[in-house]
Amino acid sequence: MSFQQLGLSAELLRAVGEQGYERPTPVQKQAIPAILEGRDMLAGAQTGTGKTAGFTLPLLQLLNETPNAKGQPRFVRALILTPTRELAAQVHESVTTYGKYLPLRASAIFGGVGMGPQVDRLRRGVDILVATPGRLLDHVQQKTLDLSRVEIFVLDEADRMLDMGFIHDVRRIIKLLPPRRQNLLFSATFSEEIRTLSAQILHQPAEVEVARRNAAAETVSQRVFPIEKDRKRELLSYLVGSGNWQQVLVFVRTKHGADRLGRQLERDGIRAAVLHGDKSQGARTRALADFKSGGVAVLVATDIAARGLDIDQLPHVVNFELPNVPEDYVHRIGRTGRAGASGEALSLVCAEEVKQLAAIERLLKREIPRVTMPGFEATFSLKVQAAPKGGHAPRPNLPPTHRPNAPRKRREQAGSGRASGRRA
Ligand code: AMP
Repeated sequence: MSFQQLGLSAELLRAVGEQGYERPTPVQKQAIPAILEGRDMLAGAQTGTGKTAGFTLPLLQLLNETPNAKGQPRFVRALILTPTRELAAQVHESVTTYGKYLPLRASAIFGGVGMGPQVDRLRRGVDILVATPGRLLDHVQQKTLDLSRVEIFVLDEADRMLDMGFIHDVRRIIKLLPPRRQNLLFSATFSEEIRTLSAQILHQPAEVEVARRNAAAETVSQRVFPIEKDRKRELLSYLVGSGNWQQVLVFVRTKHGADRLGRQLERDGIRAAVLHGDKSQGARTRALADFKSGGVAVLVATDIAARGLDIDQLPHVVNFELPNVPEDYVHRIGRTGRAGASGEALSLVCAEEVKQLAAIERLLKREIPRVTMPGFEATFSLKVQAAPKGGHAPRPNLPPTHRPNAPRKRREQAGSGRASGRRA
């Protein structure tokens, strides 16, 4: 199946072609025709599945089919709500990229930056608005935004939206929309709350469900390093330094933990940036840009901060701490090995995290191979679960530059000097 067969216009096909996309992803194949028919949609799809193009392409096409009369002021015809600023910025970028040959104007509004420029853009007229809930309501309150003519409403990452406590904001926003409109709801998971919300806002939706990430994650080589809690940082620095890793996303559970680890890595001579919800917008943008450009090797992030980040084909993802919610593990490792590229996901697991590991393995329906690094052996053992029949065969388990008998002392000597000479 090609993009042509999905019924997209020449302008959109051209923009898609320029992105180098050869064929639609599963979510795009299902979502695009249904949205073009004007149907509401409930889609189970996560970041990395191509969901953004899945709703953006048909949305652009629908708006372009009934253009605003020439010379008439523009008004918001499509509203895309996202839980985080980063995601809003990324979705806006996608809308701009795919819509570059169409006479539609898009804008993103989110918190952490001044209201002024956003007000100016809204005044000049916007067809497609991408926004986070809080800032959107600020504009509504200041009467700088009118949502009464929205034709298409997209709720992206609805589960995150609820996790982050935006449910009341979302409900307030929905009340500002005209009753007749097309609604698209995307969510990675379907809790009772999401089901209730869907039932309230969607009308006879087309249901789209694409393979969960843990299916896609088959291409990711996963390993567990059993390790004492207080030696995790040392092992991480060793892995980054000895493997000469240039780009690794490291997940921690708390903002405080993220800051601390960032500082410790810097002390080990590893350039690190930290991304979490308490950072200013400027700091977040800078951290991400430094990481993408290769200026920093390690990005330490919390789950919420990392949600929806479009960082492609990361070679390494490290779970410095396992998440409490097993689905988050799947989200995390989905950051690597995208689009068929191989990647590896390492989890540093201490004795206190045995329960989380067991829950993750139950979800994955397979055991993650345990490995140890000489000099970093744990004093406890992690029970191995029976692998299910036909389970995925693990790949060899050692980093490329592993030296089997490297004495512990050598690594300690390497200490802070080790990584500093690694990067120019
Ligand atoms: P998303 O799930 O929307 O965050 O998209 C994940 C990544 O897949 C983005 O970097 C897109 O540029 C890319 N992508 C989207 N659609 C396709 C496609 N049909 N073929 C290849 N890559 C795609």
